[in-house]
Amino acid sequence: MLEKKCANFFWGGSLDTRKLAWVKWPNVLASQEKGGLGVGSLKSFNLALLLKWRWRMISNPNALWVQFIKSLHGQEGGFGLNVSSSKGIWSKIVGSSNFLHSNEIIPNDSIRYRVGCGSSTRFWKDLWIGNSPLYIRYNRLFRLDNEQDCFISDRFIDSQWSWNWSRAFLGTRNSAYLADMINEITPLDLNSDRDICYWSLSNDGMFSVSDARHIIDARLLPALDTHTQWDKCIPRKVNIFMWRFKLDRLPHRLNLSSRRMDIPLIGCPLCNANMESSDHLFFGCDFAKDIWNLVRVWSESSFPACSTFAHWEVWFNSWQASKERKRRLYVIFAASLWWDMVVSQLLFPIFGLNPLIEKKRSIFDNYRSFSFFWLSIIDVVWRAVVMIG
Ligand SMILES: [Zn+2]
Repeated sequence: MLEKKCANFFWGGSLDTRKLAWVKWPNVLASQEKGGLGVGSLKSFNLALLLKWRWRMISNPNALWVQFIKSLHGQEGGFGLNVSSSKGIWSKIVGSSNFLHSNEIIPNDSIRYRVGCGSSTRFWKDLWIGNSPLYIRYNRLFRLDNEQDCFISDRFIDSQWSWNWSRAFLGTRNSAYLADMINEITPLDLNSDRDICYWSLSNDGMFSVSDARHIIDARLLPALDTHTQWDKCIPRKVNIFMWRFKLDRLPHRLNLSSRRMDIPLIGCPLCNANMESSDHLFFGCDFAKDIWNLVRVWSESSFPACSTFAHWEVWFNSWQASKERKRRLYVIFAASLWWDMVVSQLLFPIFGLNPLIEKKRSIFDNYRSFSFFWLSIIDVVWRAVVMIG
């Protein structure tokens, strides 16, 4: 529901009106690496916030509220295999965490222990070695232990393994299991440090809602086979315009008509020779070609005459130039397309005015002033980077 309101707001709608959504909302939410705008979904945010409760419970075992939860829902608080049968808010928290783990959206082994003195890491139930707790992998032995919640320091005393089995003889099969387990957990080197609980999916070992949200988004949101180019020196609306251009989601006549809007003519109003598509309006039309020639001369760049956006991209990606030069040309390119769009909205299609081709020069002047403005921002940022670097 909230997500729907966000989508409507994004596409320019209000509480009462809805606007045409040009890109599927999950694709808008997806990260820029996956061709989206990196907005992130509210669902993932909520799941990450709920997951934090598991982290808080495990990393603060002595907190009063944790003791309270354990007294109600058992030693594991209902997480993992011992699913809580209770109803209420806590069971929703447990349910969302179990959903993330059972669907491998967040790996089950993301919360782990780094063993120091071994006095607060449970030997069987906490994850301190391998990819799952020992009670899962050596369940037959676990069931024979008299103290299933024992700590590592209870089982490793004076550099020796010390067991507390419920029967005097383990039998051949269990002895073989025990040999396997000892082989896996030896050598163990206890020291005087505190045992530390950490989140293995972050660099600093601390759980972060933002990191968790990104991981959940990466698993749940779709991926387009493209990468979104985003330059911080360019205004946000122009970056979004470039993103829509690349996905061919601009409201030109061909696109509007393919969305069943009543468009009487889908031809280009400038040349009447082609259909009005993004590629034609911004690259292929003679009017656009003339503007690109002016831009090419002014920017002293050698980019070729491109007939489509894809053509430009292929050339740009293979262009051997410094990072700074590439960035500068990209800004000029974006400014050019943006002004083309603004001007074409003012002069032609859907907006009904006559083409004013003789205004080419003034359009070009607008490119120049905007490119200069954005490039001056790049200069400031670039200097800052150099100073920091
Ligand atoms: Zn044309």
